Amino acid sequence: MSAEEDFSRSVVTEPHSGGLIAEAADMIGAAGSIVVSTGAGMSRESGVRTFRGEEGLWKEYRAEDLASIEGIRKDPALVWEWYRERLKACQELEPHAGYYALVSMQNGKGILPLITQNVDGLHQKAGVKDVIELHGNLRTASCIDSCGVSRVQMTGDLFEKLPPRCSCGSILRPDVVLFGEQLPEQALSRAFRLADSCDLMMVIGTSMVVYPASSLPLIALRRGVKVIEINPEETPLSSLDGVLSLRYTAGSVLPELVKAVYGV
Ligand SMILES: [Zn+2]
Repeated sequence: MSAEEDFSRSVVTEPHSGGLIAEAADMIGAAGSIVVSTGAGMSRESGVRTFRGEEGLWKEYRAEDLASIEGIRKDPALVWEWYRERLKACQELEPHAGYYALVSMQNGKGILPLITQNVDGLHQKAGVKDVIELHGNLRTASCIDSCGVSRVQMTGDLFEKLPPRCSCGSILRPDVVLFGEQLPEQALSRAFRLADSCDLMMVIGTSMVVYPASSLPLIALRRGVKVIEINPEETPLSSLDGVLSLRYTAGSVLPELVKAVYGV
């Protein structure tokens, strides 16, 4: 059984509001440059456990023991065991229909920069080409003491003996943004530039409470640029002027939206 079949069974089918979807499709069709911003809700539909909310991983672990530099230095083997499990869980996931709809949109537009707060790599797995990862990624690791060794692929070899060591003798750390760390500067500045230059922004599956991702649509709105929000829950963004809020899951509404624009 494919993940898409699995996904389709998990979606609660409800009649979509054709009017709003048609309006959103018109906006997408007319826009010259679209920027997409995705958050945890997008991953959750594929089964990724998130850090916030009832089912969050933080209910089982103390965040400061796992996702901080201090935590890694204190008990690197424990932390790396956790990251190994997390990576394995992510690798086993398949992108849902919403991810593939974004690939179709990318193909239709020719270019579609995608900003994400997710570290699971599901957009890339689906085939999106230009992914800006605000919170880093789970695919690579770097020297915790910044000796110059970076972006070491997290493959099976790396996990043979925990914690994985850098060639300098120090330990490696995953290239995800840890608690108390700054976001990757290049990714962040590109995200702000895109928010400041796009014709349309789509905000998908983000709770709009995590800064700075939450500020990106506000930058677009301030310039009079419209925002399409896709989220089953209402967020602080939903009721703002210039926002068309589609209250559905990405996996249920994105394929319908893209089909309305491109017929595929
Ligand atoms: Zn090193």
